Amino acid sequence: MCKNNIMKTYNRFDVCFERGIGTKVYSTDGKEYIDFVSGIATNCLGHSNPAIIETIKNQSSKLIHISNYYWNTPSINLATKLCKNSHHEKAFFCSTGTEAVEAALKLARKYGKMHGTSNKNKIIYMNNSFHGRTLGALAVTGQKKYQENFTPLMNRVINVNFNDITSIKEIFDKEVCGVILEPIQGEGGIIPAKIDYLKEIRTLCDKFNALLIFDEVQCGIGRLGSLFAYEQFNVVPDVVCMAKGLGGGFPIGAVITNKKASIFVPGDHGTTFGGNPLSCAVAYTVLTELIDGGIIASIHKKSNYLINKLKKLKEKHSLIKDIRGMGLLIGFSIDTDTKHFMNKCFEEGLLVVSAGENVIRLLPPLNVSFKEIDEALTILEKVLAKDF
Ligand SMILES: *Cc1c(COP(=O)(O)O)cnc(C)c1O
Repeated sequence: MCKNNIMKTYNRFDVCFERGIGTKVYSTDGKEYIDFVSGIATNCLGHSNPAIIETIKNQSSKLIHISNYYWNTPSINLATKLCKNSHHEKAFFCSTGTEAVEAALKLARKYGKMHGTSNKNKIIYMNNSFHGRTLGALAVTGQKKYQENFTPLMNRVINVNFNDITSIKEIFDKEVCGVILEPIQGEGGIIPAKIDYLKEIRTLCDKFNALLIFDEVQCGIGRLGSLFAYEQFNVVPDVVCMAKGLGGGFPIGAVITNKKASIFVPGDHGTTFGGNPLSCAVAYTVLTELIDGGIIASIHKKSNYLINKLKKLKEKHSLIKDIRGMGLLIGFSIDTDTKHFMNKCFEEGLLVVSAGENVIRLLPPLNVSFKEIDEALTILEKVLAKDF
């Protein structure tokens, strides 16, 4: 067994995990941790969720994979559930968030070809955004540190300042085929879009006939207290990208489109694993638990509880600078090195993840209990009392 055989694409904590249940995970050396990372907003039902386990058992004993040259029932059911609970009418399935973004970018480019002159191919993206690591998604990820080693990237993409309406108005014209943004910038530091800003962009997209794409890979699937993040902002995008929480830890991504954006025809796009019966059955179970099981309805209360407690901690500890976020996508900026802070949380048995320059993210499973929130905050308080 040699760790060096794994390509070093991540800086990892010096721990190896072997099992988890609910909000707790256990390392190979038997230590317990409370998990407020949830695989970065992925394990929305916690670890070893009985409904997910049951679905994997049942579906894997029937059919795990079948080519997209045939129909399968779990994918039809999942598409139906997504469309019933959104303002959209078609779903495309893939395996990751990045792939969902790639599909959305291709939709925008095709939309431009269908509706414009040969130049309608510009895609607007936001500074400080994160959309993934493939070359297309990377081209619209507005952070130099991710892009610089891989240039040249896709052309005809235009960077504007997030939440700055003047910046986007200045460059918007009829050559724009799409705008992509996160309703809340996750990786970039938990920065919510302003409602008026999104409304204005919606208007601009309508005026110049471009697709509005929301990347809800991190902030969607119940995390903000509604199935989709866009519901919190009262702005309906043409395309919604999702992944992470959709499979509750099982890999699946998706885009949903409204009528205007439902333009792919056979040959335009596809992926071998997309819409396989196992991932779709799991995602269907996740949505059922979240929506019909009342978990989404509980987010608002838990969010207020967690934020109020954080505010109290902030009053006592000047290390916390500000508290941000919505639902259970919460962050606080700190006046010290985030790596150092995360290490101290880790030593005390709490998993957290950083974002942006100086933000600590709290992303508990959506079915976290009030008691577990208290447990995590007790550890946070202990850490804040240490010397930095
Ligand atoms: C994580 C993330 C992605 C990339 O998803 P992968 O599943 O890692 O490919 C894209 N967009 C946002 C907003 C994300 O948080």
